Amino acid sequence: MKRRPFFQFLSAVWANSYLGFFLHGGIYTGRLKNLCFPGLNCYSCPLAVMACPLGILQHVMASLRALPRVALEAGLYALGTLLLYGLLLGRFVCGWICPFGFLQEWLYRLPGPKIILPRGWRYLKWGFLLVLVLFLPLALRGPTGYGEVWFCRIFCPAGTLEAALPNLLTEPGLRALVGLLFYWKLTVLVLVLLGVILYHRLFCKLFCPLGLIYGFFNRIGLFRLRWEERKCVLCGLCEEVCPMELKIPRELNSVECIRCLNCLNTCPARAISLERSLGLEPELDRIPVSVTEKRNAS
Ligand code: SF4
Ligand code: SF4
Repeated sequence: MKRRPFFQFLSAVWANSYLGFFLHGGIYTGRLKNLCFPGLNCYSCPLAVMACPLGILQHVMASLRALPRVALEAGLYALGTLLLYGLLLGRFVCGWICPFGFLQEWLYRLPGPKIILPRGWRYLKWGFLLVLVLFLPLALRGPTGYGEVWFCRIFCPAGTLEAALPNLLTEPGLRALVGLLFYWKLTVLVLVLLGVILYHRLFCKLFCPLGLIYGFFNRIGLFRLRWEERKCVLCGLCEEVCPMELKIPRELNSVECIRCLNCLNTCPARAISLERSLGLEPELDRIPVSVTEKRNAS
């Protein structure tokens, strides 16, 4: 078995390992739930043993105006956790740990037509982060003074798959609460899952605010990808195997790289390596944009 799928599998099993659900029902509420799992894994999933950092971040924003002191303390915790995961792992979380990323990779293996969407569509996730995760939870308050966790409430397909559906199937009492919102989220889930079969990691590329946050650390975190011009034979294999369709070497450390290491493992000349170094990536303007473009131009 290859290392990365094995690691992804173990991570998904660990994140959803609360077997007590099968014995006495209900979700896990023990001490581990006070900690954030690095990847997107719904807190309300009956099997989840840890919290979702994106959910915590939204709760902080939603309670900031009603309970500023508590929210600030929780916010420091959430930001500290994201900072720690970001600096240590960056988007290794997406490539190696996130259960929803793992699911997308398997779905993409299903036979059928495959598509490539315009690069500009990837800016959508900036809107999701700024509007649904940060702005709306803070700005729109209900009668109690608290805001809503808008990304979870109206969009997150991981939440629908891991929490809403299993909870509805196992708790008949909840079925009376099903309404328009549930059908909307079910539609989002079905469209995202279908989209993922057609387009590799559609959710990560277009929608995931958590991946975007971790992406900010790709250029300043503990690990960085390095390309050595003197070794490169311009075969273009690295760009061919990149699931995020990145231009290598210029985008090796961009927010989009999910650190799957396909490029590093495929390079026949060992021109790509993983290096440890905190601080800004140097000389970005001086490295070529793309090996394929450089080869075609020479
Ligand atoms: S640049 Fe390399 S590590 Fe990053 S997503 Fe592409 S193949 Fe994976
Ligand atoms: S860095 Fe890319 S283009 Fe250069 S040798 Fe390696 S796989 Fe080929």
